[in-house]
Amino acid sequence: MSNLFASTAARPTMQEGFAALGWALTLSSVIFLASFEQGMLTAGAPVAHELFHDARHLLGFPCH
Ligand SMILES: [Zn+2]
Repeated sequence: MSNLFASTAARPTMQEGFAALGWALTLSSVIFLASFEQGMLTAGAPVAHELFHDARHLLGFPCH
């Protein structure tokens, strides 16, 4: 009798897990900066704020 819970798929390695976590953090940071950030995090770099603000308008995200 075969074990129904035995998976034949390869398990992700620790390195692949960290890579996936890094991508998730990077993408969620970009989404946050382009959609919700109002200048608190980018106050020291107004160019960055303007860049993400323009991206927000380009994507049609409600802004102001
Ligand atoms: Zn705006």
